[in-house]
Amino acid sequence: MDIIRSVDTMHALALGWRARGKKVGFVPTMGYLHRGHTTLIELMRQRCEILIVSIYVNPLQFAPTEDLGRYPRDPEGDAKKCEAAGCDILFMPENLYPPDFRTTVNVSQITARWEGAARPEHFQGVATVVCRLFGLVQPTAAMFGEKDYQQFAVLKSMAHDLAMGIEIVPGPLVRDHDGLALSSRNVYLSGEERRRALSLHRALFAMRESRAPTATERIAEGRAILDCDGLDYLAVVHPDTLDPVEQIDRPLRAIATARYGKTRLLDNVAIGP
Ligand code: AMP
Repeated sequence: MDIIRSVDTMHALALGWRARGKKVGFVPTMGYLHRGHTTLIELMRQRCEILIVSIYVNPLQFAPTEDLGRYPRDPEGDAKKCEAAGCDILFMPENLYPPDFRTTVNVSQITARWEGAARPEHFQGVATVVCRLFGLVQPTAAMFGEKDYQQFAVLKSMAHDLAMGIEIVPGPLVRDHDGLALSSRNVYLSGEERRRALSLHRALFAMRESRAPTATERIAEGRAILDCDGLDYLAVVHPDTLDPVEQIDRPLRAIATARYGKTRLLDNVAIGP
C-alpha cells in the first residue's frame, strides 16, 4: 500500500489508470477507522482492480459549533487497518482545496429535512468534498455506508444528476456486538450514555418488527423504547427521496438521530409491511 499526501500526485496517477481503463474503487472517510469502514474497504476490494481509500476531515461539513477541532484521529492505526483490508492507495491529502477554491455543490430537496435541517450547510460540505475527491481520484465506483443513509442518498443523487459516470454503491451498516451502530463519534460517549444509546437501535428494530400499517403507530412504538437526552428526529421515509411516508405498504427506511450528552448518534433500518 502506498500513502499519497500530494493532490497533484494522486490526480496524475488516477488519470493514468483511467486512460488504461482500470476499474478504480474508492472509499472516502474521515479516518479513525472502525469495522464499519474496513467492511466497506473489504467489500470494495472485491469489485475493483485498484482500491483507493481517502482520509480527510473536511472542514466544509462542520458548523463552527461542531467537533472539527476535536474530531478523533489515528493516522498510523488507520494506515495499518487500510493495508490489512486490501487498500492499494491511502490518500491523506494535507491541502485538499487550492487557495482559490470557489465552488460549492448543492443537492436540493433531499437535503432539506433530517440531517440537512439539523445541520445547515452540512450536505453542501459533503457534496463539495466528495465532488473534488471524485475529480482527483477518478473512480469507476465509490462506496458509502448506509449508516449515513441520507448522505448515501444525497451522493447517489449528485452522481446521477451530474452524469458523473461513477457507480455509487451502498455499504451495509455495521454494528457493535451489542447492536450500537459503529461510529467514530462513539468514543465521546460516557459508559452511562453508551448504555442508554442501545435503546436507539432497539427502538428502530421494534419499528421494523411491528406489523402496524402506519408510520404514526410505528414511531409511537419506537419512541416508547427510546431513552435519550434529545430526539432530533425519528421518521419513516421513502428510500430515495427521503420524504416522510405514512402508509407502510412497501420497502421504506426508518431513520433517527438522538442525542446522548453532547453526542448526536445516527441510526436507521430498512422497514416494510
Ligand atoms: P466517516 O469517516 O464517518 O465520514 O465515514 C466514512 C464512510 O464510512 C461513510 O460512507 C460512512 O457512511 C461509512 N460508515 C461509517 N460508520 C459506518 C458503519 N457503522 N457501518 C457502515 N458504514 C459506516
